Amino acid sequence: SSMYNYTTDQLQDLDTKHYLHPFTDHKKLAEERSRIITRADGIYLWDSDGNRYLDAMAGLWCVNVGYGREEIAEAVNQQIRDLPYYNSFFKTAHPPAIELSRLVCSLAPAHLNRVFFTGSGSEANDTVVRMVRFYWSLKGLPDKKVIISRHNAYHGSTVAAASLGGMQSMHAQGGLPIPDIDYIGQPYWYQDGGDLSPDEFGEKVADELEQKILELGVDNVAAFIGEPIQGGGGVIIPPSTYWPRIQSICDKYQILLVADEVICGFGRTGKWFGSDYFEFKPDVMSIAKGLSSGYVPIGGVLVSDEVASVLIDEGGEFHHGFTYSGHPVAAAAAIANLNILRDEGLVDRVDTETAPYIAEKWQQLSSHALVGEARIVGLIGALELVKDKTTRQFFDDRGAVGTLCRDICFESGLVMRAIEDTMVISPPLCITREEIDELISLVIRCLDQTAERMR
Ligand code: PMP
Repeated sequence: SSMYNYTTDQLQDLDTKHYLHPFTDHKKLAEERSRIITRADGIYLWDSDGNRYLDAMAGLWCVNVGYGREEIAEAVNQQIRDLPYYNSFFKTAHPPAIELSRLVCSLAPAHLNRVFFTGSGSEANDTVVRMVRFYWSLKGLPDKKVIISRHNAYHGSTVAAASLGGMQSMHAQGGLPIPDIDYIGQPYWYQDGGDLSPDEFGEKVADELEQKILELGVDNVAAFIGEPIQGGGGVIIPPSTYWPRIQSICDKYQILLVADEVICGFGRTGKWFGSDYFEFKPDVMSIAKGLSSGYVPIGGVLVSDEVASVLIDEGGEFHHGFTYSGHPVAAAAAIANLNILRDEGLVDRVDTETAPYIAEKWQQLSSHALVGEARIVGLIGALELVKDKTTRQFFDDRGAVGTLCRDICFESGLVMRAIEDTMVISPPLCITREEIDELISLVIRCLDQTAERMR
């Protein structure tokens, strides 16, 4: 773009020389070189050579209101002029952080009325680890430290958040996990369900939580954490029996239920939060991404009235906080973003219009020769590319076909992400019916080309 007076080639050279990317094999990247994205509007991106892409991933599951919203640009511009920075540490606060906390709590489930702000989802989950352990120690039960998570969960990349996550590849680097994190199976029926029906399987994997609590001893367990729908793990939509059973186990043993709403929050499922969609009642919620639609980094942790009362009445000072907790510019962006989501009725529109519309077309993709399962909730969906649809058998070289399909998508002007051989979408919530038609026809074209190139 005009602000940076470089050619694409120069940008790619400098990128290779200086820029370390997240989750990237740099040796490979140096050979293939980066695609340089320069601008965006609505649901579309443009690269430095002028190619247009339909961004079916809303950036990284975050640009819920779509790109190019003037209201957010205006709010950020004004806030930088009024007060670009101040903290909330030493008995100070500022209007944007206060207003955002009010607004977020008004949208969240009724029993969640207090929020701590962070710079990201990882920092939110990092905060959760310390906060839930602090909560139990305040209640005179300092041994209740273990947080139970799930294999293949994604909760972020800081030391604590990556430990909470269930990604083996991440644990293998840097000496993770930290102590007192444990894992149970994930509700991934397509891969692990065997001969069970999805509902039977949902109950079976949820029951692993009870077994794990008994194995560890309830006196040692602080909390269970889960994404309502696992995003980074491959858009794993749990069977309908799963969350009710998890809720009843947490209730029975009185351990805290933490919902990682970083992806599901702020309308992704057609409800404000994934826990609203699945009708469970978290004690603690981590948020980020859709909070500001990614325009400026911000995350947070919401706590229930019960948790807040213990922390506030018994806790004294919680020795925890970030320079950018409640950052005024990020808060201003988030307020403008949430006002758009609410005032334009985008979440309801997903629920009543666009989700049902895309669901029907998405289901039809399961008749494609490569597609073993097509699943979708709200505007988050997945296609399992498989070797054998009838036996739910994956390809031997798992991940290769997904990568091929992902590359074909990019070449065809579509951004879909491949998680191994699972193709996933999570488009901006502002996507229209016409744009959904375009998305679906691009997906079909890319699936056909993938099948062709595999021969
Ligand atoms: N939790 C979930 C469910 C996520 O998907 C992510 C990011 N993809 C995170 C936490 C971490 O958020 P961040 O990258 O903002 O640190």
